[in-house]
Amino acid sequence: MTSTERSIAAAEAHSAHTYHPLPVVVATAEGAWMTDVEGRRYLDMLAGYSALNFGHGNRRLLDAARAQLERVTLTSRAFHHDRFGDFCTQLAELCGMELVLPMNTGAEAVETAIKTARKWGYKVKGVPDGRARIIVADNNFHGRTTTIVSFSTDAEARADFGPYTPGFDVVPYGDLAALEAAVGDDTVAVLLEPVQGEAGVLVPPPGYLAGVRELTRRRNVLFIADEIQSGLGRTGRTFACEHEGVVPDVYVLGKALGGGVVPVSAVVSSREVLGVFAPGEHGSTFGGNPLACAVALEVIAMLRTGEFQQRATELGDHLHSELGLLVGEGAVDAVRGRGLWAGVDVNPSRGTGRAVSEELLTRGVLVKDTHGATIRLAPPLVISKEDLDWGLARLRDVLEA
Ligand code: PLP
Repeated sequence: MTSTERSIAAAEAHSAHTYHPLPVVVATAEGAWMTDVEGRRYLDMLAGYSALNFGHGNRRLLDAARAQLERVTLTSRAFHHDRFGDFCTQLAELCGMELVLPMNTGAEAVETAIKTARKWGYKVKGVPDGRARIIVADNNFHGRTTTIVSFSTDAEARADFGPYTPGFDVVPYGDLAALEAAVGDDTVAVLLEPVQGEAGVLVPPPGYLAGVRELTRRRNVLFIADEIQSGLGRTGRTFACEHEGVVPDVYVLGKALGGGVVPVSAVVSSREVLGVFAPGEHGSTFGGNPLACAVALEVIAMLRTGEFQQRATELGDHLHSELGLLVGEGAVDAVRGRGLWAGVDVNPSRGTGRAVSEELLTRGVLVKDTHGATIRLAPPLVISKEDLDWGLARLRDVLEA
């Protein structure tokens, strides 16, 4: 048995089968490259679903983490610690907001945003108790908790997990008229991904996000943007909402906020909205811990330079012009995306997205399929143009084989 086979057999035997990973066992990684237990190198074109925007083993992030590891890693929120105030101040500033509520995973932050919106609805908007409703889009992906899968339209994500949490209305993504029709007196929020990542990197029609902003403001409804995957540089802006000059009421952040080093998520909003919470009403043992804050502070400092957003724009333009050449040649039906982020719909004649991912693996490129026919490309923003071209050449080889 090879080391790869041994590791996979152990995982198969003793882990719940909630994933179907590609047959590669990673041992180390640096920048945009990973090395497996056999010493083979792979170009990482997934970047931990955008959690690794700054690359594997980013020096600045590792130094920040290492320095903090030697000082203090966890206090709980029972006490103050000396990184918390800076983290909240600087994250609020990056977002152009006032208050921060830190959590750990993306799903926790989405749950927090839902609780925030409901409480705001009762205490500020004046919705009768127990009646608050939140509008979401079809094909959404916001995480895996019981409440979140309650409003998923993905049968696989939802089946056999009921009873489901009530209070959500689902409308077609990108359809402003349907959204307007769904808003009622008890609607407290619209929760959307500015680009739907898991759905296959779906970019809404031009004007949609601006329209949602105008509608929600007019109807006194919170606009919650789940920027967990789309935010923090990926699309060429700090936030994907910026492409339409939109500032939502609430940002939900995660993934890259922890730099792929530690799980860090947050809800960021105004004093009017996040000010609804009082001590004891919400919390998390690890949320806002010193190690998380130290790493996130470095992430924020890197984003402030604009360098990563610029790279995502330039490399993204290149990525999309190269991918555009594949469309209509028989192998690729469509390409979508924004910045250094793309969904590629593979023509069924070339096999499934999974089959293409497995082929790419044998050629040293790691990607992930989604929804059968689509592969997702989201390399770390630190990838060089040469490496990106190398990965794209392998993709072309596989699709044109
Ligand atoms: N929201 C969006 C838009 C996501 O893409 C994800 C994860 O892919 C989540 C929420 C859930 O984040 P986590 O897996 O950290 O709970």
